[in-house]
Amino acid sequence: MGKLVKDFAAMVFNDAVMREKLPRDVYLSLKKTIRDGADLDINLANAVAHAMKEWAIEKGATHYTHWFQPLTGVTAEKHDSFLRPAKDGDGESAIEQFSGKRLIKGEPDASSFPSGGLRATFEARGYTAWDPTSYAFIKEKTLYIPTAFCSYGGEMLDKKTPLLRSLEALSAQATRVLRLLGMKDVGGVTVNVGAEQEYFLVDSSLVARREDLRFCGCTLFGAPAPKGQELDDHYFGVIRPRVKEFTEDLNEELWRLGVFSSTEHNEAAPSQHELAPIYTVCNRAADQNQLTMELLKKVADRHGLTCLLHEKPFRGVNGSGKHNNWSLFTDTGVNLFAPGDDPASNTVFLLFLSAVLTAVDEYGDLLRISVASPGNDKRLGGEEAPPAILSVYLGDELTGILDCVESGKKYAGGGRTQMQTGVHVLPDFKKDTTDRNRTSPFAFTGNKFEFRMPGSAQSISDVNTTLNAAVAAVLRRFGDKLENKKEPEAAARRIVRAAYSAHKRIVFNGNNYSAEWVKEAEKRGLPNYASSADAFPHFTAEKNLRLFVDQGIFSEAEICSRREIMLENYVKVISIEASVMTDMAVTQILPALRAHLKELFETLKNAQTLDVRLPGTDADARRLAALAEEIGARAAELENGRASLARLQSPEGSARFCRDGILPAMAALRDVCDRAERLAPAAVWPMPTYKDLLFSV
Ligand code: ADP
Ligand code: MG
Repeated sequence: MGKLVKDFAAMVFNDAVMREKLPRDVYLSLKKTIRDGADLDINLANAVAHAMKEWAIEKGATHYTHWFQPLTGVTAEKHDSFLRPAKDGDGESAIEQFSGKRLIKGEPDASSFPSGGLRATFEARGYTAWDPTSYAFIKEKTLYIPTAFCSYGGEMLDKKTPLLRSLEALSAQATRVLRLLGMKDVGGVTVNVGAEQEYFLVDSSLVARREDLRFCGCTLFGAPAPKGQELDDHYFGVIRPRVKEFTEDLNEELWRLGVFSSTEHNEAAPSQHELAPIYTVCNRAADQNQLTMELLKKVADRHGLTCLLHEKPFRGVNGSGKHNNWSLFTDTGVNLFAPGDDPASNTVFLLFLSAVLTAVDEYGDLLRISVASPGNDKRLGGEEAPPAILSVYLGDELTGILDCVESGKKYAGGGRTQMQTGVHVLPDFKKDTTDRNRTSPFAFTGNKFEFRMPGSAQSISDVNTTLNAAVAAVLRRFGDKLENKKEPEAAARRIVRAAYSAHKRIVFNGNNYSAEWVKEAEKRGLPNYASSADAFPHFTAEKNLRLFVDQGIFSEAEICSRREIMLENYVKVISIEASVMTDMAVTQILPALRAHLKELFETLKNAQTLDVRLPGTDADARRLAALAEEIGARAAELENGRASLARLQSPEGSARFCRDGILPAMAALRDVCDRAERLAPAAVWPMPTYKDLLFSV
C-alpha cells in the first residue's frame, strides 16, 4: 500500500475501521441501525464506545469530545478525558474509561448558544446526541464524536438535526417515486455533495495592523490597488512557493481526516484560492466542510498566513463563495441526474429534473434565505455582478428537450457530439451535453446541480436542508400523482410537462450578470432580495412553514426562533462593523491625517517665509484638510446611527434600520476615507493598503 493511501483517513473511525475493530454482530447491528434509522441499543453503544476508545488511545488520543454545530454556524466542542479515577475519591489509581452512555449523550451547558428565545437562560441544559451516520475522528489528541444538539425541552439548537431530517424526507419520497416508476429494487436515495471552498490568503503581519481584518474578517476601508484582477493573470496561474507549502501541509491534514481535497488552484482575484474536495454523502460533506474551514485557518496560521473566509474581504475584486455541488444517487448506484446518451427518452431523469426546477421556483425565497448574511450580501447583488435572483441554467439541449415535452413535438437534436480538437496528437473527445455557464446561480453541470450562491464562510447545512426539503415536498406531490397509475411512465411524462409549463420561468441560460436579466427577471415575477433584511422575513411565510412543519423538519417554534437568530445576527455583524469603522476612522485615520496636515502647513508657512513655491502642495493640503473634516463628520453620523440602532427593539425594525441607515452611513464614511487614502502620501497612511494586502503572498 502506498504511503498516501495508508495515511488517508488514518484518523477516522470509518466503515473499514469499524468492520475491523467491532465484533461482527455489533458491526452488523450498527449498520442496520444506521440504515433503518432505528433507535440505538445501549449494549450496542457500549460495544462501539469500547472499540472507539481502544482505537483512539492507540492513536494517541487522551480526550474525547462531542462535536456539534450550533446556530452560530461554526462548530463547538467540550473535552473530557478518557482517564478517570479507578474509584470515586481515589486520587491514586486511574483507569481509561468511555462508556456507551457517554458516547450517546453529552450535556454541554447550552445557555450561551443562540436559541432565538426558545430556551430561557435558566434552563441552561442542552444535550448532544451521537450521530452514528457521520464518522468520529481524531484531531489534536482528541476523539471527535459528531453529534446533534438540542435543548432540555427537545427543541433543536443546531444545524445538523434538520439536515438529517431533510435527508430522510428526501430519501423516502425519491424512493417512493422510483418504485412507482418500476425501479422496485431501490431501497433508498442518498444526497451527494461536493462543496468547493474559496478563500483568500494574506500575510499575517499585515492583518495584525488592520483592525477591520482582525475583528471583522474583511476590509472596511481601502482604495483600489493600481492593479486588480483585470489581466486574469492570477486565475489558474502558477501557485507561489509559500502557498504551495501551505497547501501541502493542509492536504496532509485533510487527508488524514478522510477529506479528499483533490484540486487547488488560484482563483480570479489576487491572493484568492479554491479547494475542491471529492463529493461524499451530504451529512459527511457538511462535517468535512466545517473541518476544512477550521483547518484552513489553523494551517495558514502556522505558515504566518491568515486565511480569510469572508465573502467579500476586498472591494473591487471577486468575493468568495462555496459552490454546493448536489446530486441524488440510488442505493443501487444510479445517479438520478445523469442524462444518459438519450436524455429525451430518460423519463426518470426528466422527472427528477422537473422536481428540482419546481422546487427552486417555489422555494427560491427560502434558498435565498439559506445563503443570506451581511457578508454574502456584498457578493450577491451588492458590490459584485451576480444579482441575488435565483434561476436555473439547463443548457440548450435540456431546455430544447423540455420545450418539446411541453409542446408535444419530437425532439430532433441531441446525442453527444464528437469534439474535434483538430490536432492529431490530442485525443478527440465527446462534448458534454451542457456547456458551462459561470454566471448562473444554480447550474446543471452534466450530472449534478451546482448551487453557487452559498457564501464562503457559511455552513452548507442550511442550504442543503432547504434544497432537500423543497425537492422532497415536490416529489411527494409527484408521487401522489403517480400512485395507482396503470401507465406510470405516461403519467410521469404528463407531470414533467405540467411542471415545466408552470415553472419554466426559472430557467435562464443567458448572462446572469447583465442588467437586462434583472429587468427580465422582474417581468417573470422572480424575487430579487438584494439584502438579507429583505429576505429573512419570508422565512415564516405560510408555504414555508408548511414545507418544514409538514415534513417534520422544523416545528413552527423552531422556525420562528431561527428567523429571530438570523435577524439578530445580521444586526450584530453590521453593528460591529460600524463600530470598528468609526474606531479606525477616529483613532487611526484622523490622527494620521492631522499630524500630516500640521507638518504640511508648517512646511507651507516656511516656504512662504523663504518665498519659495511648492507646486501643488497648497491645493493638496486644502483638499486633504476638507476630507479630514468630512471624515470626522461622517464618523459622527455613523456613531449617531449606532446609538439609534441600539434603541430599537424589534429584530425586523433593527435589520431594516441597518439596511437603510447604518450601511449607507458606512458607505459614506468609507468613501471619504478612501479618497483621503488616494491623496495622502503612502507613508502617512496608518495601515497596510490594498496594494500591500492583495500582493503579500
Ligand atoms: P466541475 O469541473 O464541473 O466544477 P468537478 O468534477 O471539478 O466539476 O467537481 C466540482 C465539485 O463537484 C467537486 O467537489 C466534485 O467532487 C463535485 N462533484 C462531482 N460530481 C458530483 C456529483 N455527482 N454529486 C455531487 N458532487 C459532485
Ligand atoms: Mg464550481
